[in-house]
Amino acid sequence: MSDEHPHGDSTRVISAGKIITGKPGEVKERASVVIGNGNIKWVGSTDDIPVEYADVTQERYPSSTILPGLIETHAHFGARNGSQPNVPNPELHVQGWNALYSAKVLHQLASIGITSVQSLGSKFYTDVAVSQAVEQGLIEGPRVVPAEPMITTTGGHDWKDGSEVDSLDDIRHAVREHHKAGAAVIKVAATGGFMTPGTAQWNAQFTTEELRVFVDEAHRLGKHLAVHAHGTQGIRRAVDAGVDYIAHATFIDEDGITRFDGSLADRIADAGIYVDVASPPSYPPVAHETIAPRAFDLFSHGVRIVTGHDIGAVIPPYGYLYGLEQLELAGIPRSEILIAATSRAAAAIGLAGVAGVIERDYSADLLVVDGDPLKDLKALHNRQLIVIRGKNFIPEKLPTYEGRKVPSQAGPVSVLGRRSEALRRQQLQQW
Ligand SMILES: [Zn+2]
Repeated sequence: MSDEHPHGDSTRVISAGKIITGKPGEVKERASVVIGNGNIKWVGSTDDIPVEYADVTQERYPSSTILPGLIETHAHFGARNGSQPNVPNPELHVQGWNALYSAKVLHQLASIGITSVQSLGSKFYTDVAVSQAVEQGLIEGPRVVPAEPMITTTGGHDWKDGSEVDSLDDIRHAVREHHKAGAAVIKVAATGGFMTPGTAQWNAQFTTEELRVFVDEAHRLGKHLAVHAHGTQGIRRAVDAGVDYIAHATFIDEDGITRFDGSLADRIADAGIYVDVASPPSYPPVAHETIAPRAFDLFSHGVRIVTGHDIGAVIPPYGYLYGLEQLELAGIPRSEILIAATSRAAAAIGLAGVAGVIERDYSADLLVVDGDPLKDLKALHNRQLIVIRGKNFIPEKLPTYEGRKVPSQAGPVSVLGRRSEALRRQQLQQW
C-alpha cells in the first residue's frame, strides 16, 4: 500500500545522536535511517551507512533522538464541544462540519508527531472519510484506522452515534454493515459510559454470548474487536468473550466504587489484550482520580498498556503528551511508555509490521526531537522534524495544555462521590 501512496519520496538519509527503534530495549547511538518511497530502507550506525547511500546528503541532528512516529489508539472524529456552523439549522450541516473539524483534529495530531491514529467511534462514518482522504492525498495527516459508529444497545452508551443492536442477528448484521462501509476495527460499548445520560458505567450492556458473536464476526472479517468498558462486570465478560482491546478498564463495581481486580488483570495480561486507560487531564475528577493507580496496577500485572486518550471526545489532540507524562507520574517507566506509544500501539490497532518500529520495510513515520525522551519525556515537546510516510509534515503551532497532577497513590475511589445515591439516580434517569 505504501508504495502507491502519493506521499512517496526520494531517498533521504537522516542521522541523529540516537535512534529509539521502538523495539523493546533497542537504542542505537550515532545512528542513521535511510528512507525512500515512503518506507524505511535501512537503519544502523552512521559509520556503517551502505555504499549505495554514501552520496546522499545527510540531514544531521547530532544532539537529537529519532523515534517512530507516535500513535494514538483511542480517538473520536466528529465535531465536539458544541462546535457548529452559525446558521439557523446546524443539523443540516453536521456531516460536512464533522469532516472539516476532523481534518483539523488530524492536522493537530500530526503536529505533535502522531503518525497513526485509531478511531474508536465516529458518527456518520466521518473516520472512514478522513482515513480515505489521507490515503488519497487530499489532506495530510496520520493514517487513520476507522471504527465507524460505536455499536451499542438501544439507548446504551453512545447511542446517538446511531448503531444500536439488541439480538445476535442484529449484532452480525451491524458488524457486516460496518465492514461493508469500511471499518478496520469494530468498537462495542460493553458497559455504560460517563457521557451518555441514562446508562450505568458499572453495568454490562451485553452478555458474554453476545460479545462472543461480535468477536467471532469481527475476526472472521479480519478485524480486531475493541470494547469500551468501565465496569468490572463488562470487563470480565469482554475477557471471557476474547476481545482484543479494552478502552478505559476503570474496574467500577456495581456499588459505583472502583476496586482493582488483580486476578482479572492477570487474565487480561495472559490473554494479551491491549488496554488504554484513557481520560487524562480535564475530565471530571472521577476518571482522573482513578487513572494513576489503575495504570500502574495494570502495568504491574503485565497488561499491555497502550496510549489511547479519548482524543476528540474528552481531550484535545494537543493533550496527548500530557497523557504520556501522566503514565510516568503513575510510576510506569519511560522506556515502557515509549513502547506503549509506538510499536505496541501499532500492534494494538492492526498495524504490526507496518508502523511503530524503525526497521527496514516499515513505513517511514519518524519523529525527531531535541534531547532524549528516555531521560525526560518533555523532550517530545522539542519537535524538530515530523515525517509521515517519507514526507515532511509542516506542523501548526499548538496551544499549550495544562494537565492536572494525578495522585500517585490512591485507594478505592467512588466514581459517584459522597452524593453517590443522588448521582446514581441522576445518571440513570432519562435524558
Ligand atoms: Zn472513547
